[in-house]
Amino acid sequence: MDKNLKSLNPTLVWKHFAEIVNIPRPSHSEEKIRQYLVDFAVAHGIEHKVDDAGNVYMKKGATAGMEDRKGIVLQAHVDMVPQKNNDKVFDFINDPIEAYIDGEWVTANGTTLGADNGIGVAAILAVLEDDTLVHGPIEGLFTATEETGMDGAFGLKGGLLQGEILLNLDSETEGELYVGCAGGTDVNASLEYQAEAAPEGFETLEISVKGCKGGHSGIQIICQRANANKLMFRLLRKLSAQMELKIASVDGGGLRNAIPRECVASVLVKSSDVESALAIVAEFEQVAQAEYAAVEDSISIKAQKIAPAADIFPDSLAKALMAAMVACPDGVDKMSMAMEGLVQTSNNMARVVSDGNTIKVQTLVRSSVRSEKEALADAIKATLEFAGFNVVLSGSYDGWNPNMESPILKAMLSSYEALYGKRPAVTAIHAGLECGIIGSNYPGLDMISFGPTICYPHSPDEKVEIASVEKFYDFLLHTLANAPKK
Ligand SMILES: [Zn+2]
Repeated sequence: MDKNLKSLNPTLVWKHFAEIVNIPRPSHSEEKIRQYLVDFAVAHGIEHKVDDAGNVYMKKGATAGMEDRKGIVLQAHVDMVPQKNNDKVFDFINDPIEAYIDGEWVTANGTTLGADNGIGVAAILAVLEDDTLVHGPIEGLFTATEETGMDGAFGLKGGLLQGEILLNLDSETEGELYVGCAGGTDVNASLEYQAEAAPEGFETLEISVKGCKGGHSGIQIICQRANANKLMFRLLRKLSAQMELKIASVDGGGLRNAIPRECVASVLVKSSDVESALAIVAEFEQVAQAEYAAVEDSISIKAQKIAPAADIFPDSLAKALMAAMVACPDGVDKMSMAMEGLVQTSNNMARVVSDGNTIKVQTLVRSSVRSEKEALADAIKATLEFAGFNVVLSGSYDGWNPNMESPILKAMLSSYEALYGKRPAVTAIHAGLECGIIGSNYPGLDMISFGPTICYPHSPDEKVEIASVEKFYDFLLHTLANAPKK
């Protein structure tokens, strides 16, 4: 096992990375890496501070003749995701990562490597340490606890950063520039009810919607996959239009950021309606399968008789809930006009569950445009309030709307072409990044996210491509030397 990372190029980046892998730094146990950064700044006479959120900040002046350039903030997060193979004995709080060279890649023996975002941290240290470079005013921002909620970015106060440009070094495909991300808002609705005794002469059916693909509610919302909760309530409305229908319970979806794959409801219909209820369910399964034929291949919608339910939702509540659930917006709401193929605003109708006393509905609204996010969240709130829900919005954070006229984007496109003879891909993501949160306290900050190629981050197979680190670092240095003028 070749563990000599320091033999790789660029030497300064790998020197720091080789030291960083020896420093345990799972999220929330970041004191040692913070100390390493502070020690580095002290040793090199670099102005620095640690803020209340645990972010480390450093600052270095322009090199001679570069004083007229816009200041650039270089940003990376210090924590890593601690994942190991089942058979690996490893203590992330104390043990150094066993990083080694495996052909064209650097990887770790049985654990995550922490190239996400250790390579970014190492690159910033390499820039700050190297007195032979050409650059305008630079700042280093090493954020805390990104992987479990972006605590450092949320805790970063306005007024600290002075640069007009921020380069986030936490992307995972060399040759791609990220210029936008989505913000989010959680919609939390609850409605208390007094359950009623199930009436005589009814049979209880369990209806299930299963086999939907689901996926990440940001990344995969563009796939227009089926939402099991939405399908369920469409079906219940259909049934209730044909017969007397009571709802005993419902349980659909799981995590707020996952498109729901399954929803199960217990309903009551008159004994004389059971046969036609089963027929409607079977017919609806075919309708749903046909509608989603291009994106889903195993949607299953079934009904079966089960033991009688003891109690039910009041009729008025069942009616209101069905109406609200079919009326609530879900999926892609708007596509970006600035960037083709980018979802701008969406909602994921993530969870609906009853427990005998309360019905809860949870959704996650995402948008790269704050006002659209607020408007869609309010539309959902209004719909659920109509049905009598108490609705609370929480956990709101900002996105980052792509600016194709951005000065640093133009400079980086020409830097990349000058170095590699082709244009990098310019892209954005319909999910949260630190940039969106940092930008909310620094309006007008001109941002780009990029990085080397890292495969399987957050897993024990994580690896970083050696050649891509060199390309990424050369591109970073070229960008600094060609920073836009003030
Ligand atoms: Zn990361």
